Amino acid sequence: MIIILKNNATKEQVNEIMKEMERLKLKPLYMPGKEKTVLGAIGDERVLASLNLENYDFVEKIMPILSPYKLASRELHNHETIINVGDSLIGTPNFTVIAGPCAVESEEQIMETAKSLKRNNVYFLRGGAFKPRSSPYSFQGLGKEGLRLLKKAKEEYQLEIVTEVLDTEDVDMVCEYADIIQIGARNMQNFRLLKKAGATKKPVIVKRGMSASINDLLMSAEYILAEGNPNVILCERGIKTFEDAYRNTLDLTAIPVLKKKTHLPIIVDPSHAAGDREYVIQLAKAALAAGADGIMVEIHPDPEKAKSDGKQSLYPEQFNELMLQLKRLAEAESKIIR
Ligand code: PEP
Ligand code: MN
Repeated sequence: MIIILKNNATKEQVNEIMKEMERLKLKPLYMPGKEKTVLGAIGDERVLASLNLENYDFVEKIMPILSPYKLASRELHNHETIINVGDSLIGTPNFTVIAGPCAVESEEQIMETAKSLKRNNVYFLRGGAFKPRSSPYSFQGLGKEGLRLLKKAKEEYQLEIVTEVLDTEDVDMVCEYADIIQIGARNMQNFRLLKKAGATKKPVIVKRGMSASINDLLMSAEYILAEGNPNVILCERGIKTFEDAYRNTLDLTAIPVLKKKTHLPIIVDPSHAAGDREYVIQLAKAALAAGADGIMVEIHPDPEKAKSDGKQSLYPEQFNELMLQLKRLAEAESKIIR
């Protein structure tokens, strides 16, 4: 429920209602606005009805939240969520670039990548230490050693680290090393993992499952928000369709649709969508033009030698070119590349 208060509502009255909600095990939300103060109440609507809030003199209006994803929805929170990570801000009008290899492979590879980020004024380094691979015989990641290498690059080059967490058991450890944790497409509906990520308060990137609807993605975000972690970033990374001329179909329409439904930042992963470096720059530009708040792109100092996703990883010169082209486009679209 959304409870809109009259202008004359006092702090004491607001506190009184919030306490009452808590007592009834409803989740109260306090959203002071420029003109009006709005309260939210999440929980059993019958319990809320028993409070008879409409009888209070300082309550102007009570409205139900119609969408099933109450906290992710714009109904409750109709302004952009901006997430603070280090010195950077993620969310409209900023356009955040996250770049790095699919997997952390060696110190040399990760330091070379970090240098390339620094040259391009990119502040977010990605790299998987735990890799979800289709085959059990493929490279599974360096594990903790990979996390250690990411931290080394962070310290040497002042970068923020984005890395995937595969398992609930690893969440605490990954959080010690990461500035943003990533929940991959294959884990988007691993509800225990989402809850655990919600309990950490670390910023979380939730990647859309390859067969998940926009609604499913928002419900997954809701799991994290409902645990009290407001720092959720959504990521469109391509979905499965009948088209087999490329790895996945980048659902660009999802960007304006998500923008309409949610206040959360939305980024795009053009690399897993395309599956081929040849198309990555165009898709990244399309994402910016469609209103995304950033991209997460795979790059590698020597893609031919990559242990995973080499074909879709940009060469260092291509990454420079990508940044040049994005900067030009960002100006036209009034976005600030961070
Ligand atoms: C990745 O980012 O390397 C990855 C495994 O992505 P996804 O979960 O989207 O397949
Ligand atoms: Mn990858």
